[in-house]
Amino acid sequence: MLLLEPDSQLVTELAPSPNHYDGYYERKSPWVVLHTMETPENSTVARNIATGWFSRTEAQASAHYVVGDTEIFQCVNEGDYAWAAMPTGNAHGIHIEMAGRASQSRNEWFDDYSRALLELVAALTADICARHGIPVRILTDAQLAAGEKGITSHAAISRVFRESDHTDPGYGFPYDYFIERVQAHRNGTANIANGAPPAPAPQQSAPAQSAGPTPLPDGVWYNARGWFTADRRLEVSADTEVDSPSMGYYSAGSGFNYDGYVANNGYVWLSYVSWYGPRRYIAVGPNDGRTDTTWGTGF
Ligand SMILES: [Zn+2]
Repeated sequence: MLLLEPDSQLVTELAPSPNHYDGYYERKSPWVVLHTMETPENSTVARNIATGWFSRTEAQASAHYVVGDTEIFQCVNEGDYAWAAMPTGNAHGIHIEMAGRASQSRNEWFDDYSRALLELVAALTADICARHGIPVRILTDAQLAAGEKGITSHAAISRVFRESDHTDPGYGFPYDYFIERVQAHRNGTANIANGAPPAPAPQQSAPAQSAGPTPLPDGVWYNARGWFTADRRLEVSADTEVDSPSMGYYSAGSGFNYDGYVANNGYVWLSYVSWYGPRRYIAVGPNDGRTDTTWGTGF
């Protein structure tokens, strides 16, 4: 049916598109699918595509959402099928078209326009994930092929299902940064205006240290590489202060590659350099010299 009201409170304006199929059942494996519109980056392009193209029958194309640097347009009900990515992608995806091009480099995804756009898309994606029970993760090709829930791209759908040759949003798209921002919005720690997480993480009390095993000295860096799997929710921090803002989190069962560790403020922190630059720290247990008190495995 034609779009009458927004599915998300983040929608700026409705731009109903006739180019869709009505959905008759709840999707069993919803994906959030990222696209680029192959347009310039400017303040009117999202409006032009949503209200001036997808709204017209002759376009024979649509998406659920069209996003620029300041506005989110909804064109198709989430429960209906947009015409965005051939049969398989259309059947299972909630599709988001982003202003920009698949040829953008990683650096170009971090210009002012794209950062503002990514923040809106991350907020929208977090909202969709919350309402549809979609985990905040980028699907591997195997997970996508198996119909698991998650976030994916037109490129991945093309690769896995071979129904088109589209490669958007392109090789330069910063998935690591994007997923961290989605997680921040999902946690409620993101400030949509500036992309900075303002809320401090809850203060944690320092653990009691046992007399037997020896804690590590504070502030000494140790090189070590591995994959750590969390057994509970672990906050990601930009430093080793316990009251710093959370940059996101790993939920139980999820994990990350680390390249070293350091003890500070009563905890042992695993660390890695995020794909787009800044170093991150994750407290993985009390600094008590013991291995059985670690909040996960792989360290
Ligand atoms: Zn696409």
